[in-house]
Amino acid sequence: IKFSELHLDPAILGALVAAGYDTPTPVQAQAVPAALRGADIMASAQTGSGKTAAFLLPALQKLMRRSDKPGKGPRVLVLTPTRELAAQVEKNAQIYAKNLRWLRSVTLVGGASFGHQIKSLNRPIDIIVATPGRLMDHMRSGRMDFDRLEMLVLDEADRMLDMGFIDDIETIVAATPASRQTLLFSATWDGAVGKLARKLTKNPEVIDI
Ligand code: AMP
Repeated sequence: IKFSELHLDPAILGALVAAGYDTPTPVQAQAVPAALRGADIMASAQTGSGKTAAFLLPALQKLMRRSDKPGKGPRVLVLTPTRELAAQVEKNAQIYAKNLRWLRSVTLVGGASFGHQIKSLNRPIDIIVATPGRLMDHMRSGRMDFDRLEMLVLDEADRMLDMGFIDDIETIVAATPASRQTLLFSATWDGAVGKLARKLTKNPEVIDI
């Protein structure tokens, strides 16, 4: 299968071609079609598997439809365990969204200026890429509005739990609309992460590569 067979918008496909991508990786070949038809996903995929594009491509495609909800809150939220991973996701989003000039992506991680982050929340946002701790800080300050949220992604969910983010994740998820699509990526589903996954997803497509 080729990217051109995945029913991606030409603007997104064009960016992939420009980046030299031709063939989807196994996790992409399974996750992209499932996510495009609106399914929740539980995917076991390691770093290097191409998991980032597996969630970003369907996210971008979703963002190409105008939101029918007013407000400026994010339409896609990606939670990652670390700043480094958040930066990777952001970098990839910029490559794949190269032709979507209108797209606004904001990264909210610790160690960066809180004031600058607050300012970035004053205009409508398409994607927030965040670590749970810093996102919670913004929620506590009353500046986070998830009314428009259509997609929630947990990247490396097992690592987030290992780092003690379970309560933060539960609080964040509770603030999002039940109508959202949920995509979970984790190296394992053993123990707490499996329990969390069953709680957060509805009839998920389980992808094991
Ligand atoms: P990830 O597992 O998401 O961290 O991706 C690992 C690396 O593979 C990143 O540098 C991506 O840019 C690259 N990559 C992801 N998918 C593809 C693909 N289908 N073809 C070529 N390179 C890819």
